[in-house]
Amino acid sequence: MHINDAVFLEDLCPKFRFRQWRKSIHRFTGKSCIYCGKPSESIDHVLPRSQGGLSTTENCVPACLSCNGDKSDENALYWYRRQKFYDPRRAMAIRAWLEGDLRLAIRLLQWANPNFKIANKNYEKDESEYNAA
Ligand SMILES: [Zn+2]
Repeated sequence: MHINDAVFLEDLCPKFRFRQWRKSIHRFTGKSCIYCGKPSESIDHVLPRSQGGLSTTENCVPACLSCNGDKSDENALYWYRRQKFYDPRRAMAIRAWLEGDLRLAIRLLQWANPNFKIANKNYEKDESEYNAA
């Protein structure tokens, strides 16, 4: 497929673009939950949609179903502070993510989770995708 056709397809089909976007969010953390580090199965709105949170990369983090369900409509940072698996490095990563500093967020997550290497490999590629979006 020619590269221009791909762009055209995305414009034509927002669903396709949405799926790509979701995938790229999971890739940032190596498909692990930003809160607890377990496999991420969902996208969590840090500021809940019910409180005006938007579906933007800055407000959407990869989360496992357990964290996503438990957090529900609460503010993520308040909720996270009370969890048994609370890690200040992850809290800082979430904050950096919210501010749109994904590079810093990923570095903090790597620090919190030494098993992060796989995601690190694809990091440069992921970042260029992010910048292009
Ligand atoms: Zn989790």
